[in-house]
Amino acid sequence: MNTRPGVCARKRRFSSEAEAIAVALKAEITLRPYRCQLCRDYHLTSRTKGMKSLPR
Ligand SMILES: [Zn+2]
Repeated sequence: MNTRPGVCARKRRFSSEAEAIAVALKAEITLRPYRCQLCRDYHLTSRTKGMKSLPR
């Protein structure tokens, strides 16, 4: 997953994967947590293209 600095600054940041998952589950759309290479925290992305995702 390529992460650009601008994206990192704009996105919500989670200090733990569990926290990111909890928020993702409550969202209306499919969100996936991923580890950011820049801030070492977790972000959520709605882009599932090219990522392994289970069909709902
Ligand atoms: Zn980040």
